Parts: sequence; structure tokens; C-alpha cells
Amino acid sequence: MNEPLVIVGTGLAGYTLAREFRKLDETTPLILISADDGEFYSKPVLSTGFGKGKDADALVTASAERMAGQLGAQVLVRREVTRLEPQARRIWLGDQALDYRDLVLALGAQPLAAPVGGEAGDAIFAVNDLDDYRRLQQAIRGPSRILIMGAGLIGCEFANDLASAGHRVEVVSPSRHLMPGLLPEEVAGAVQGALEDLGVRFHFGAVLEYLQRQGDGLQARLSDGRSLACDLVLSAVGLRPRTGLAQAARLAVARGIVVDRWLRASQPNIHALGDCAEVDGHSLLYVMPLMSAARALARTLAGEPTAVSYGVMPVTVKTPACSLIVAPPASGAAGQWQVEGSGTDRRALYLDGEGRLLGYALAGQATQERQALSRQLPPLMA
Ligand code: FAD
Repeated sequence: MNEPLVIVGTGLAGYTLAREFRKLDETTPLILISADDGEFYSKPVLSTGFGKGKDADALVTASAERMAGQLGAQVLVRREVTRLEPQARRIWLGDQALDYRDLVLALGAQPLAAPVGGEAGDAIFAVNDLDDYRRLQQAIRGPSRILIMGAGLIGCEFANDLASAGHRVEVVSPSRHLMPGLLPEEVAGAVQGALEDLGVRFHFGAVLEYLQRQGDGLQARLSDGRSLACDLVLSAVGLRPRTGLAQAARLAVARGIVVDRWLRASQPNIHALGDCAEVDGHSLLYVMPLMSAARALARTLAGEPTAVSYGVMPVTVKTPACSLIVAPPASGAAGQWQVEGSGTDRRALYLDGEGRLLGYALAGQATQERQALSRQLPPLMA
């Protein structure tokens, strides 16, 4: 048998690449390996499912068996790749070896854990995959008091979703306002107001320091001395690209696994894409970049070397309380926010010294300007 193309990871990156590859090559043996159940789902729905009353199974659109059939592939589930051996073109799943023609790492990212004292650490959840979602749903019994750590994009999406599902939500964050990396203060204030109208309460300038049981619930002590009662804690303090396997195999790693515009890692016949990859210096943990990367890499793996380019990639934030679209400026881009509008209708433009548009954040009615403004933005990676 020809040696297979092996893709490690069955998230959006792994499965999208497999689909794109099969459009171009129907015969090369293809093996996908997943540490989870290998079910196909769109990860962004994890932060909109509670409000819709969906359980984890309802978020799944295809089982691993069905994906294997569609892709003409073998999908190995609940199997963890434990070691890479690049010189031998071999990977290890525990004590089982698997040789490859080409290897693609689509390992995703893992939630960061903030240090919290106290004996109730088991009541802190993070939701980054279907198993996590299932665990959190099982832990929530009836209307609950939920404390969210982190007021970034994901923390705010969960705040909106869990409040819509009837829970009492409080958010604690060390930042001065919500989504500090994405929004100027005025737009953040508009989103905050809309979430507060849903019942969400924010505690800025503080972190959760200590969590202990008290009666049927929990007592959370914040760094500013305040004390909050809650039933469980959802941690949304950030994600870190999964780089451990690559690092152990001496592949170049920075924030993510370092790859060039052809998605090539620093050893031959190994590629990476999705949340785990840092593509030509860009570590973008969103869906649109991984779709572009999957299309380019599929062509390369089918014999037509193709560099990936990123166009303009705005992100729709799933806070229905206040519709929001952001196209963040490239990190370190020099410029200033210019904000117009009132209430929840805000238009914020990030302009450089010559008045060129480098990014935007649009809330409420202003989201209708998305396309016109996107046309004025420079591509992220031409
Ligand atoms: P993952 O989906 O994490 O897949 C990683 C895969 O690797 C899994 O199958 C895992 O089992 C496997 N794996 C890892 N290690 C091993 C190993 N050693 N052996 C075998 N298998 C392994 N982006 C947007 O653009 N818009 C949104 O609205 C949006 N909303 C989001 C909401 C939430 C709650 C979250 C968490 C993210 C959201 N994102 C959003 C980000 C987006 O979902 C991710 O960028 C994308 O899904 C990442 O896909 P991936 O395939 O790279 O990683």
C-alpha cells in the first residue's frame, strides 16, 4: 500500500483539509486521527447552544463513521498521537507506529488555566470542544449562578448565551472594559450595556483568586476583596496553540507551530494549519484563516504547491444582545480609534497617520457598513 497522508486532528481544520484534498485526489490513502470522538461539528456553535437549549449531540452534524465514508478515509477516534519521528516519517500512538507520506498537524489550541486558590477547582469549567460542552451542561442543573472568568470574545459570547438561557451571569476580568484587544472603550461600553440589559453583571479590574464551597453553592473571592456567590465558574481566559508534540520533535515553534506560506513546518513532509499553526508570523485562532489554509494546502498535497494568502477577515461576534463585527488591525499596527454613533449603534475606525483604514469595530446598525469598509482594508497577508 502507498504510504498515507495522515492528518492529526478532526476539528474544522483537519476535516476541511480532508474534504478539499479529496476533491483533488481520490486515491491516496488518507488517515485522520482524533483524540476525541471525531464527530463533525462547527466549533463556533459551542457558545450559542445553551440559549437554544441544545445538548452536545444536537451540535453534531456527522459521526466519525459518516465522515470516514464521505472522505474515503480511515478515521481513528479516541487515539492520541504521543510522539512524532520526523526523520523516519513516522508517528507514534502510544506503542503503535504509523508511517506517513505526508503529515498534517491540525491539533487546535487548548484553554489557558488561570491559577485559582481554594478547594473548589473542580467547579471551574472551560468549553473548547464537545466533551467540555457536555460536561458543563451536565453540571448546570436548573437556573444557576454562573461566574465567567474573562471578558474577551469567548467570555462575552458565553455571557450572552448563558444569560439568554435563564442563568444569572457575572463576569470578572482584569481588563478595564470588555474585549480589550478588539474594541475601543466606547464600543465595549455599548456591548456591555446591552449585556447588562440581559442581566449580566461585570466586575472589571479584578481576577478570581479563591473559590470555596459554601452550603449548596460556591463562594468566589476576587482580588479586589469582593466576594460573590455562584454555582459554577466558566473559565474563558484565553487559548494557547497546541505545540507540545511539535516542540518535543524539535520542530520550530513560536506562539504556534511555525509554518511558511505553504504551511510547511521546519521538517520535511510535515505541515500544520488551524489554531495550532503560526502561518508566516500570523497566529489567528478563527475559522476564516483555516479555511484559506485548507484550500491552499490541499492543492500542495495534491501536487500543485500553493501559497496561502489571507484577505480581509472580519469576525462576527455572537453577542445577539448587540450585533458586533470586528476586523482587528494587525497586531502592533500604529494608528488610533475614531469612534462615532450613540447607544448600541457605533462605528469605530482604526486609522493610521495618513487616514488609511487599518481595522474596524461595528456595533448595532453600523454593522451594515461591513462590506463597504472591508473593501477599504488591506489584506492580512497578501
Ligand atoms: P480544534 O477544533 O480544536 O481541533 C483540534 C483537533 O485535534 C481535535 O480533533 C483534537 O481531538 C485533536 N488533537 C489534539 N491533540 C491531539 C493528539 N495529540 N492526538 C490526536 N488528536 C489530537 N471562530 C470564528 O471564526 N468565529 C466564531 O464565531 C468563533 N466562535 C468560537 C466560539 C468558541 C466557544 C470557541 C472555543 C472558538 C470559536 N472560534 C470562532 C474559533 C474557531 O472555532 C477555531 O479557530 C477553530 O474551530 C479551530 O479549529 P481546529 O481544527 O484548528 O482546532
